[in-house]
Amino acid sequence: MIDTPSPNGPPPDTRVVTEIFPGIRTLEGAGFLVHRPFPTQRLAMLDPFLLLDEMVPSDLAPGEAKGAPDHPHRGFETVTYMLEGRLEHADSVGNRGSLGPGDVQWMTAGAGVVHSEMPSAGMTREGGRMHGFQLWVNLPAKSKMIAPRYQEIPADEIPVVSLDGGGSVRVIAGVFRDTTGAVETHSPVTYLHVTLSPGEATNLAVGESDNAGVYVFAGPGFLGSDARPVDAHELALLGPGSMVSATAGQDGLECLVLSGAPLGEPVTRYGPFVMNTRAEIAQAVEDYQSGRMGVIG
Ligand code: MN
Repeated sequence: MIDTPSPNGPPPDTRVVTEIFPGIRTLEGAGFLVHRPFPTQRLAMLDPFLLLDEMVPSDLAPGEAKGAPDHPHRGFETVTYMLEGRLEHADSVGNRGSLGPGDVQWMTAGAGVVHSEMPSAGMTREGGRMHGFQLWVNLPAKSKMIAPRYQEIPADEIPVVSLDGGGSVRVIAGVFRDTTGAVETHSPVTYLHVTLSPGEATNLAVGESDNAGVYVFAGPGFLGSDARPVDAHELALLGPGSMVSATAGQDGLECLVLSGAPLGEPVTRYGPFVMNTRAEIAQAVEDYQSGRMGVIG
């Protein structure tokens, strides 16, 4: 594999950018701002990915930090990746934890958990900068009702691959070159945080039949076989092929590369529940309302 583009352009079989979706500014939880490239009216999902939120990097005054108080999930996984600030979580299974810069929490909600995702007491008191991502990964039908599970990966346990041009790739899930990511997934999923120096170019292999997209959060960058410009807070959807190419502009590039084998199963979603049928959604609502997903103790 190649770290720099050949003089003749990107390698053969490089994916083209088929469409660009802006991250829609949306209020989430108790009222914090996110950029959400999907789900939106234009892009319902990127099978197997159901949602991507970028918690907007902002300088919060004391008392201003907001989170997502107690709420349930069933039928999928929530993946929280923090870059700045600190979140604390608690759940109905008895887990407690704290996520700081570079840490990843890969939560398999499975049959159901009730949890809270809140700024740390220190952040609430003193304010500060909060920046991070939440990705929702669907579970295959056969795994939707498995037991909840957490994979907590501290920043220093996420493999980092250095690129020849000075950039780096943090391998959260999947495989990049010979490096395997930190988490186990229920279907083939790749989640990379790619950082490129000004002007640097790189090529990444992705599964031939994967759905793939690149979310830029510091740019602009130039993506795909025709080097389409993509700005910060935009998601570039990629067409078929086995390679993704990315080139940084003069300010460098930071992006998330998401690719995964589409599950190709029916998706019925209702807020925090994502199942295959409406009957399963009705059951989830009933189980939550009757306390069968537990409460945070
Ligand atoms: Mn949640």
